[in-house]
Amino acid sequence: MESTGIDTLTGLLDRQGCLRTATRLTANARRSHQPLIALWLNIDRFRTINGSLGISGGDAVIAKLASRMQSRLQHRAHLARMGSDDFLLLASGFAAGEATLLAAEVMALIKQPMKIGSIVLHPTCSMGLASLEYAEPAEIFLQRTEHAMFEAKRQGGDQMVVLGDEQLPEWLGINLAREELEVEHKLHAALENNGLYLQFQPILRFDGQVESVEALMRCTINGELIPPNIFIPVAEKTGLIVRLGEWCLMKAAMQAKHLSEAGINTKIAVNVSRAQLTAPKFSKALYNALVCSGVAPELIELEITESLFMDVSDQVQNHLRDAIEMGVSLSIDDFGTGYSCLATLKDIPATKLKIDRAFVAPLPEDQRGFALVKAITQLGRELGMTVVAEGVENPAQLEKLREAGVDAIQGFLHSRPMNEDQLLDWLLRQKKMNWAADTFAKIG
Ligand code: C2E
Ligand code: MG
Ligand code: MG
Repeated sequence: MESTGIDTLTGLLDRQGCLRTATRLTANARRSHQPLIALWLNIDRFRTINGSLGISGGDAVIAKLASRMQSRLQHRAHLARMGSDDFLLLASGFAAGEATLLAAEVMALIKQPMKIGSIVLHPTCSMGLASLEYAEPAEIFLQRTEHAMFEAKRQGGDQMVVLGDEQLPEWLGINLAREELEVEHKLHAALENNGLYLQFQPILRFDGQVESVEALMRCTINGELIPPNIFIPVAEKTGLIVRLGEWCLMKAAMQAKHLSEAGINTKIAVNVSRAQLTAPKFSKALYNALVCSGVAPELIELEITESLFMDVSDQVQNHLRDAIEMGVSLSIDDFGTGYSCLATLKDIPATKLKIDRAFVAPLPEDQRGFALVKAITQLGRELGMTVVAEGVENPAQLEKLREAGVDAIQGFLHSRPMNEDQLLDWLLRQKKMNWAADTFAKIG
């Protein structure tokens, strides 16, 4: 009997249907000189799953995985079930880099936990990826892809093998891409489930006065804390940083307003990435944050890396000018780690310069490092900026920085980043200590 070409359990193409589709696509690809890729995936430990859940449980797993792939990929790929727990994807027009991204996306999709009855499964798969070679018949193309999957299985499963030595460097990048996709997924989840929050770290002058407080974004999803050096770059790459940044500006402005209502007029510094300043709506988002919170603009500062000040694009320049016109101040973050030319420092409209932690860490031993900190500090002060040292962890570093003439310091020595409610207590305590020290000095 001629097959209908459709698998009854999943509604995907069956082996026959897949072969017919593959034959048509390979012919098209040859005619139009378009790339064609195939991705063969097999579920790891499926025999154990079948053994413990029974055949109907196993079928439920297959059907669920198929529907996941279908709902996410049906417009980009042809999907087939090649046998028990074997799936195949065929996609036209994908360049090599895009193909590995697609493969990473499928891998992440399979890995999402799945509830079958009372059991939560964490499926993984072995995957083979191949590109159509010129004049290759469809059957051979699919066979090669299946062999790549076998190789992934042989290497322990839960991984992908890309056929062809020439693609090996990309294979090295796959883990990263896969992780990035996972992080992106978590960021979306965090945005929807209140998983984002701010922590605050004070910046103190040597006399104990609070210079400002830096707002640092945190992301927690299902109890797992994802550090900013992992999620910020992914948010920047995907454009999500624009939404995160708007949220951060609003939250920080409201926090500054809240503090000022409690009698503490402390400036809050917000980190701003390049991707935010190149987006058209930045000035509007800043304006909205100021207006909605009702905070005085001089209580908000934007931390920007030096290279951004040098950005000659109109968009960035206009946004920086708008911020200054609104009354918000600018600060140069991580100074000394970029590639900017010192001569242009004089043109930067910032009022604060933050010396990167890399210069502080080797103190007090590093004499040449100390000379550099001294020179940067002098330069910053001559240009009328407040100079802050980042990452101060011990009293010996503090003493060296005082000797170098730095105005204020930030670091674990004084305080780790803390939550909103802890911040108010901390600031009130600091205010009391400063008052006591002042009074003592006057009496003494
Ligand atoms: P940053 O702006 O230079 O922030 C200072 C970082 O140094 C923070 O790391 C802080 O926790 C850490 N730090 C402070 N004192 C010490 C110390 O004494 N020792 C050490 N080892 N570290 C210290 P965090 O919070 O992990 O943030 C890392 C970076 O992520 C930030 O560096 C900033 O570039 C970025 N970031 C954080 N929040 C945001 C945000 O809201 N928006 C954007 N665009 N970037 C952000
Ligand atoms: Mg910063
Ligand atoms: Mg910094």
